Amino acid sequence: MIPFDFEYYHPSTIQMAVDLYQHLHEQGKRPLYYAGGTEIITFARANSIQPGAVIDLKSIPECNVLAMQKDMLIIGACVTLSALSEANPFPLLSRAAQGVADQTARNKITLGGNISGRIHYREAVLPLLLANGRMVIAGTHGIRVTSIHQVFNQELRLAGGEFIVQVQIDRDYISLPFAYFKKREIGHVGYPLVTLAAFRINHEIRTAYSGVCAFPFRSAEIDEALNDSSLPLAARIELAIGHLPAPLLDNVEGSPAYREFVLKQTMADAVHTLERR
Ligand SMILES: Cc1cc2nc3c(=O)[nH]c(=O)nc-3n(C[C@H](O)[C@H](O)[C@H](O)COP(=O)(O)OP(=O)(O)OC[C@H]3O[C@@H](n4cnc5c(N)ncnc54)[C@H](O)[C@@H]3O)c2cc1C
Repeated sequence: MIPFDFEYYHPSTIQMAVDLYQHLHEQGKRPLYYAGGTEIITFARANSIQPGAVIDLKSIPECNVLAMQKDMLIIGACVTLSALSEANPFPLLSRAAQGVADQTARNKITLGGNISGRIHYREAVLPLLLANGRMVIAGTHGIRVTSIHQVFNQELRLAGGEFIVQVQIDRDYISLPFAYFKKREIGHVGYPLVTLAAFRINHEIRTAYSGVCAFPFRSAEIDEALNDSSLPLAARIELAIGHLPAPLLDNVEGSPAYREFVLKQTMADAVHTLERR
């Protein structure tokens, strides 16, 4: 049960959503944009958030697009992870989506909600970081389109009242050879010890990680180390580990030492897989 009352709005246009946010914010109602609701409901039940109003984005047509337009794949922020893997327009993203939660939860969880969430993992962002995705963002100043690298640094950083409308991916990325590994402590559902998503592009490997540190990331230094063909693989991996952007995560899924062990193995798996493709 959610132990407080809140108002629920479901605008049908981008402008209505932005105006509503502004209005509710000015009234001190601490509004939240709402997509699948899985995280909002979990946190609200635990009383760790108390929005006075939620603005459901799912009735906005632009947020539900899933289409190829010219040389770009457009994915609306409210497309669910199960719809994404079913349609399979971008196989690496489908694999990442399939690894999140279970089917029932994936029927609700949206791409935009997963990227914007507060949990460490946000695994659907990894293919977007690798593919230099662009984010279509709505706010009081209208619509802006920007590189994911401008707005996702450890977490999504939007101005107050902004929301993600769509994600754009260049066609060139969607059929590249890829590898995807999600390693959990136990079973086939649950948070990762290590998730590694990788492409091979122009004979080089490009990697992104979740579960390793307290945020998902892609690192040019790690990729440089892994691609250094003058060194044996074990030495490349040792060098890569030295470039982690933050301490290894220490939680119920695994200790830092265990994560490092699993990470090294997963890096080796990814390199071997992509060398064969
Ligand atoms: C059982 C279970 C297991 C899970 N396991 C994993 C896992 O292993 N890996 C993983 O990555 N995730 C996992 N998740 C998913 C994750 O924890 C979140 O619940 C989910 O990603 C939130 O998506 P949502 O669409 O429901 O977002 P919501 O709950 O609607 O919103 C989440 C946050 O994002 C904001 N938001 C939503 N949409 C937008 C938008 N378009 N623009 C800007 N802000 C927005 C909201 O304001 C809110 O702050 C799991 C979830 C469950 C229930």
